[in-house]
Amino acid sequence: MKKLVLSMFWAVASSVALCVVLCAAPPRSNSKPIRILLIDGESGGPYHNWQLTTAVMKKELEDAGIFQVTIATSPRFGEDFSNFKPDFGSYQAIVMNYDAPDWPADLRQQFEQYVKNGGGLVTVHAADNSFSDWRAFNEMIGIGGWRGRSEKSGPMWYFKDGKLVSDISPGSAGSHGNRLPFQVEARAPEHPIMKGLPRVWMHTPDELYATLRGPGQNMTVLATAHSDLTNHGTGHDEPMLMVLNYGKGRIFHTTMGHDVAALSGVGFITTFQRGTEWAATGRVTQKVPADFPTADSVSYRANIAEMDPAFGHGPFIVNPFDGLADQALEAMKKRADELGIGGVAVVAYFAGDKIQSWSSKMAVFGRMKDEPTDKDTGANLLGIAYAKAAEMADTLKDSGSHVRPPMTGEFGWTGGVIVRGKGGYLIAAFSGGKSEDDVQVSRAGVARLQTGL
Ligand code: ZN
Repeated sequence: MKKLVLSMFWAVASSVALCVVLCAAPPRSNSKPIRILLIDGESGGPYHNWQLTTAVMKKELEDAGIFQVTIATSPRFGEDFSNFKPDFGSYQAIVMNYDAPDWPADLRQQFEQYVKNGGGLVTVHAADNSFSDWRAFNEMIGIGGWRGRSEKSGPMWYFKDGKLVSDISPGSAGSHGNRLPFQVEARAPEHPIMKGLPRVWMHTPDELYATLRGPGQNMTVLATAHSDLTNHGTGHDEPMLMVLNYGKGRIFHTTMGHDVAALSGVGFITTFQRGTEWAATGRVTQKVPADFPTADSVSYRANIAEMDPAFGHGPFIVNPFDGLADQALEAMKKRADELGIGGVAVVAYFAGDKIQSWSSKMAVFGRMKDEPTDKDTGANLLGIAYAKAAEMADTLKDSGSHVRPPMTGEFGWTGGVIVRGKGGYLIAAFSGGKSEDDVQVSRAGVARLQTGL
């Protein structure tokens, strides 16, 4: 992971210029467009901005030059559905950017008939959260998460030793770690959707869905991604792309695409465009684009990423420290618990050989100060931990090294550790226990930072 994240950094900046030329393929005019119905109108929470992502998905399909996209926005769950009557049969595939608890029975019935009779279905990311109790829908998508899904919804499905396995251990369905770039690995490279893609490619930062459950019938997993234990993962290779059959219908299911940044990845775009064509027609005529990502560098389309007002105008940069800081603090908490101590932990990172600015994150384990008594003035553990970090940022030595006398604001106490990483310095400091214990806690934090920086 460490190599991947860093190299992504540089690859991303250089792919921005490239994109201007490659982004949109010219529409093909000599054949009839493939008719697509994109359904939206609800999500499980504000973290899925369907109004924004629908516009992105529509553009991505239109950029392929072979689709004509109509949008149907459903009423919210519990509202009046009597005027929501999409004519499913007029479309060759339905794309779901939609996560609702349920539908009226007649609508469910029409949808089931449509897919059974050969209609295509594409579900993107949280669309596999929807309809947890609708049996036919769960047979179509194979696996899903959240909305009360549990072992009753079916086993978990993942890859083990190169094979798809099901796991009946009990538990709720649906989890993901922090949004980091991750590698996607092809498992059915000869399938039309996958043909010509590299065996492994790097996806843009996204939620890596894990512990999804469902019937998993008639399901072919096209690609997986490793759910990293150090990022709240399962340690399994989790399904990312799937195809299924339901009656005569074809289903393409991608678990990727949390937000615009995730949707802007060329790996996502390409598999979404190809998967939709396959679901609609059973064939894939689209070529693999020249800006498709490699195994260790992300490639994304700036004109898509810019559709998110939060994107701004700079290059699309992920600070790898953001993803690791929580893990480093967690490792420090674990070590502090083992030693039976509490206090304040700080981790920090700065690039280069000399500090100009740093990223830092702090956590309080149990207490952040010791109250004053008759005998002493107490201890501001938060202040001490940061003083240790500040001393290290100046001396580039572990705190309390006494390479020079402590300056005003410093204490010269041990319990902070600094190491040179690949691109800069990694710092962890702890205050709360005996000096040697503080050092041990800090070492655990730095060790975790070193896995990525
Ligand atoms: Zn999400």
